[in-house]
Amino acid sequence: MSRKIPFLAELLTLLALIAVPFVLPPLGFTPATINRIMIFGLVGIGFDLLFGYTGLLSFGQSAFFGTGGMFAAYLLTQTPFTNAVGALLIGTIAAGIAGYLVGLVALRRTGIYFAMITVAIAEVFFFMEFNPLAEYTGGENGLPGVPSPSLGLGFTTIQFSSNLELYSFFAFWYFVGLVIALRIVRSPFGLVMRAIRENPLRAQALGHKIHSYKLVVFVVAAMYAGFGGGLLGLMQGFMPPDAFMFATSGEIVMQTAIGGAGTLFGPLLGAATWLLLSDFFQTTLNLGATWKLILGIVFVLLVCFLRRGLVGAVVDLYRLAFGHKKAPAPSSAARTPAAQPAAGTASVSALRHKSTHNKTGAILQATGLTKHYGGIAANSDINFSVNYGEIRGIIGPNGAGKSTFFKMLTCEVPPTSGKIVFDGRDITHLGVIDACQIGLTKSYQINQLFERLTVRQNLMVAALGELRGKFKLDLLKTLGRVRGLTAQVENTAALVHLTHRLDAQVSELAYGEKRRLEVGLALATSPSLLLLDEPLAGMSAEERVETVALLKSIAQGRTLVIIDHDMDSLFELVERVTVLQEGRILVEGTPDEIKNNAQVQEAYLGGVQGETQ
Ligand code: ATP
Repeated sequence: MSRKIPFLAELLTLLALIAVPFVLPPLGFTPATINRIMIFGLVGIGFDLLFGYTGLLSFGQSAFFGTGGMFAAYLLTQTPFTNAVGALLIGTIAAGIAGYLVGLVALRRTGIYFAMITVAIAEVFFFMEFNPLAEYTGGENGLPGVPSPSLGLGFTTIQFSSNLELYSFFAFWYFVGLVIALRIVRSPFGLVMRAIRENPLRAQALGHKIHSYKLVVFVVAAMYAGFGGGLLGLMQGFMPPDAFMFATSGEIVMQTAIGGAGTLFGPLLGAATWLLLSDFFQTTLNLGATWKLILGIVFVLLVCFLRRGLVGAVVDLYRLAFGHKKAPAPSSAARTPAAQPAAGTASVSALRHKSTHNKTGAILQATGLTKHYGGIAANSDINFSVNYGEIRGIIGPNGAGKSTFFKMLTCEVPPTSGKIVFDGRDITHLGVIDACQIGLTKSYQINQLFERLTVRQNLMVAALGELRGKFKLDLLKTLGRVRGLTAQVENTAALVHLTHRLDAQVSELAYGEKRRLEVGLALATSPSLLLLDEPLAGMSAEERVETVALLKSIAQGRTLVIIDHDMDSLFELVERVTVLQEGRILVEGTPDEIKNNAQVQEAYLGGVQGETQ
């Protein structure tokens, strides 16, 4: 979706919606089908925010579709309330409240367990509609007599009764829903949503309170569903009980998959395909019950052959037709730091970081730190201290407990016993989000990047944690308006020599570039203490030389603790070295002391030197 022409997507959608009543009927779409497409397209937008953008597959949308629909229909048929738009909004709020309560429960789990909870919840709502609440919902009869939509303007009331009037009512709300969703996905909040989809644990480690983000998206999706449910009642003049049926949830999922998840327009295209085919099989071909079988086969074929859905296929065709190619990766010469703009050095000082200037003494102190995994003692009684501005190395054979030690220091895992004090504050049980927020973070031994986002977006996700705090409800703000974001991203990119790759998708990067981005993500959070877990792992000799130079420039004015197996490179960088063995500290000293220490040579260096030669 192009961002070069402002509001291009909105404008094209508006033109398409105006064209629909003239273009679709000759293609075999009835007015009722077109209106249903609008409604399911709108419900699908909410579902796409949840599934396509945040990675949460919910089978519970029927619960909110039914709740919103029943609330609106009840108000309009069983009470003196006559304002259709007011009823729709009240239904939407009711669905949002239901979404909030369900989300509190369902989001306690992830993946398949989350999906299963939503299935169960959809069933519970279906049962409630039919049994305890039948008095209000009409049970299996639903609620008949819902008036056609009207809009009270005070001095006059606009009635929507003809096919074209009804279409304009539904198309208007679809457009409003789309504009809101487009704003959400372009907001800082929307970028964090995508980061959660790609790698929730890393998003959390970068200081984002992902549970709150997920809960808000869940509520937003429920509200879209609730509004759509209300529209269904107005369209049919009757609120059907099957709105609550699990099949409704399934249809929303399938339509989004057919159209293309993570596109916002996919659900509309998916709904059009789904509803046209089901009309065609049922009414035109008169297939009886077989239509579901055929539609199922068509669904499987579409999903298997169009893995990014219809929208993905349209984008691919457009690229093919107009020769849009992915930018080629730069040559290795262009990737070297030497080819980078001089900004690299200038940015070291320009890059924000939490100031620990003029502070002396220990920035981090671990006392008696112990971690047991079942019977395994990964770390035992570690006493460790790093001073402000120090660069410390940690070495130790495989399995010595180095990564576990880092995980405890960044509050990723709680220690079995012991205490961690950071910058004068006890952080032993703080949690990884808050640890990052107060300036303690790490780069990972195995890259933890947001693969389907660009380098720029990756760095933005990291910088946003620092600039906005762990949670902010800035759903409608544009990313460009986050103060300091562009500078922080560009300075970090310059520092890790990725300026020329800012708009490349991470999955296209070379391994060395990904490693540098891994360090860049940690740097962009402006840490006052940065832990680097094997930053040189898996690199070629040439890449190691580049990365050591990079780490030297990063080290200016920062406190670093670096784990690595590459002794020569590490000893070149650090002032002191801590040696871990079998979960305990074996010895600490300057690189020269460590090199000449008989215990270290016996326990570790000899073996590793032998391995690395
Ligand atoms: P490497 O250099 O290979 O990365 P390391 O020094 O970082 O090793 P750790 O990964 O911290 O060592 O592992 C220390 C010990 O703790 C190992 O015996 C490992 O198997 C064990 N361990 C680490 N994480 C877990 C876990 N989540 N569950 C069970 N055991 C674990």
